Amino acid sequence: MQFVSTRDAQHRAGFSAALSRGLAAGGGLYVPLEWPGAAVAAVRPGDTLAQQAAGFLAPFASGDPLQADMPAIAAEAFNFPAPLVPLDGARLGVLELFHGPTAAFKDFGARFLAAALARLRRGAARPLKILVATSGDTGGAVAAAFHRQPGIEVVVLFPKGKVSPTQQQQLTCWGDNVHSLAVRGTFDDCQRLVKQAFLEPSLSALSDLSSANSINLGRLLPQSVYYAATSVRLHAQSGAPVSFIIPSGNLGNATACVWARRLGAPIEEIVLAHNANRTVPDYLAEGVLRIRASVPTLASAMDVGNPSNLERLSALYPDAKALGLALSAVSVDDGAISARIRADHDRYGLIWCPHTAAAAEAWAQLQPARREGRHWVLVATAHPAKFREIVEPLVGQKVPVPESLERLFRRASQYTEIDATLDSLRAVIERRAA
Ligand SMILES: *Cc1c(COP(=O)(O)O)cnc(C)c1O
Repeated sequence: MQFVSTRDAQHRAGFSAALSRGLAAGGGLYVPLEWPGAAVAAVRPGDTLAQQAAGFLAPFASGDPLQADMPAIAAEAFNFPAPLVPLDGARLGVLELFHGPTAAFKDFGARFLAAALARLRRGAARPLKILVATSGDTGGAVAAAFHRQPGIEVVVLFPKGKVSPTQQQQLTCWGDNVHSLAVRGTFDDCQRLVKQAFLEPSLSALSDLSSANSINLGRLLPQSVYYAATSVRLHAQSGAPVSFIIPSGNLGNATACVWARRLGAPIEEIVLAHNANRTVPDYLAEGVLRIRASVPTLASAMDVGNPSNLERLSALYPDAKALGLALSAVSVDDGAISARIRADHDRYGLIWCPHTAAAAEAWAQLQPARREGRHWVLVATAHPAKFREIVEPLVGQKVPVPESLERLFRRASQYTEIDATLDSLRAVIERRAA
């Protein structure tokens, strides 16, 4: 099966080529050329998530070098559950995507990409170096997924003093083939350094560089699995389709849900819950896209003013009107996020992470007829313990830490501090290559 660039209908690539390249030539993003019905048909309600993932993803790798490895890759990536927890009677559920090694949904995509790239790199002459700039969540998931993968090294850049202590621990606790850099600068400096490194001939001469960026097809497509699996299972039980509310920033998770529905999964409404970064809700309301700088919020992993995957959604729904028929979007500010964390802790005894709280607030704001007329699922994107500095003062108690995070917190932290210059980054990369 082939994937096509959002910017050039002539530019096509197979599954492994799309994964290895990340971005298509000309800066486009890879999207499926076809929507094989076999993907959702292969998802059987009683199977394990890993079996469902292998079946769902198989048509996309058909005829590809990775085809035979697909069951093993799916087993590695989907080795933790995505349970659906019923809430408030049978008409609402919480899809918990935070049972992986770094307690956020990004573990699914990062682990899939790592398992796939490790196989594609077998026998390569030189190591693959993955450079990631992170403002918190992504770097941890990528570092964890690639930790100790043979033939691959990871360099994580984060802005010194600008991530929470809990996030910093997740970025710096790895060692081995993962090198963490505290950059004396901002997140934008980290991103600029990674971009400059890719353009620097002396560095690409030294090793193969890659980004494991969230726009990589190998991180996005596997995320469709839990939407297909959840909707197929609920549909088998109730005969009705499922509607999802998704905490959204760069729109990767939302695009994965749209793709699952496009492939035939029994999904009805898709609602995007954004924080105070209103680019998408305003686009749908006003009909014009206004890209802007991001503003910092409590739900920091969604602080995005220019969502990359809007380009993928636009490939299916070219204007605001068409997109608005396919999904809706709301903006939830920090005051409402805090109030929702408090209120739902009182009401259900549950503690949301700030991102999941935006989805819970979006559900609470639905018109009663719409809320009661559908089977809603809130997508819980991270465990609250990852954001304990924010959540604990709101609920007035300690957040219980899951075993997976406990393990990370126990590891020793190690990182190198560098100036926000390409020379400082080069020195680190060259040392690692020696
Ligand atoms: C990355 C992230 C999001 C946003 O997901 P996108 O795919 O970028 O829209 C939401 N919540 C958490 C916890 C995240 O880490």
